[in-house]
Amino acid sequence: MTTRRSFHAWLGRSALAAALLMTAGFSATATAQEKTLDVVATTGMLGDAVQQVGGDRVKVTTLMGSGVDPHTYRQTRSDIARLTRADVIVWHGLHLEAQLKPLFEDLARRKRVVPLAEAIPKDRLLGDEDDTALYDPHVWMDPELWQFIISRARDTLIEADPAGRDVYEANAKRYSEEVSALNGRVKALLQSVPEQGRVLVTAHDAFRYFGRANGYEVLGIQGISTESEASLHRVEELVRFLVNRKIKAIFVESSVSDQNIRALIEGAAARGHKVVIGGELFSDAMGAPGTVEGTYIGMIEHNAKTVAGALKGGN
Ligand code: ZN
Repeated sequence: MTTRRSFHAWLGRSALAAALLMTAGFSATATAQEKTLDVVATTGMLGDAVQQVGGDRVKVTTLMGSGVDPHTYRQTRSDIARLTRADVIVWHGLHLEAQLKPLFEDLARRKRVVPLAEAIPKDRLLGDEDDTALYDPHVWMDPELWQFIISRARDTLIEADPAGRDVYEANAKRYSEEVSALNGRVKALLQSVPEQGRVLVTAHDAFRYFGRANGYEVLGIQGISTESEASLHRVEELVRFLVNRKIKAIFVESSVSDQNIRALIEGAAARGHKVVIGGELFSDAMGAPGTVEGTYIGMIEHNAKTVAGALKGGN
């Protein structure tokens, strides 16, 4: 039986033990500093931003992989386990993953849960045409708006891990500059399309911020969320538009079925107008991990190249 008193007496007799205890104390501190922050992000775009800013100090897990539609995503049991273990959770907000909101509100009572896109000033957001109480959540389509996500990611990591402040600030600055350079390249590509050809027709309304930033007219078959069905009336309306404006190319999206896009092509063909699929765009999810399009910068650049290439094309 060891009492506190006898333990101290024993310690006093043993300089070696004291030295060992100090070493143990130091290594415990070092371990605490080296522990990576466990962050869970909903979309790949958010996960990429947090990883870029967090560097080696964070380990990021993304719930929604390549090709996954965030508007309809439901959490799995393993997601709940990951979310429960996480130090920090970042989600988009602005009603993108609205179905997960109750879960995040519950988790927010126990840990840091941050809707990053809600950092964007409201006067920079577009409204939802179908519901005036809501905003269009597809803000990643404008790299200028993505800068607010980078800043909020930086601040969130600093709050969760103040010792990493210098690292997070330096990484955020570097990534912000890369996104700013991306914006310049995207604008140059898209402005190479003659003005009358700057029309983007896609499966759902994910490109309104892209349109506003680059001077493109954008039309989606489905509305802002893929939850609603496309109406036959909307398909007819878009077929007339394609024929009247002699639009050459329309685009499929990696996270949305191409069924409605094919209906437009057939509808236009029935009226004697040939329109082709100009390529696949990454609307609400990035490409496969390990590919260029599996990063935010690669995804946005791919979209700009695909749109500019197809609309300029002499086809
Ligand atoms: Zn969407």
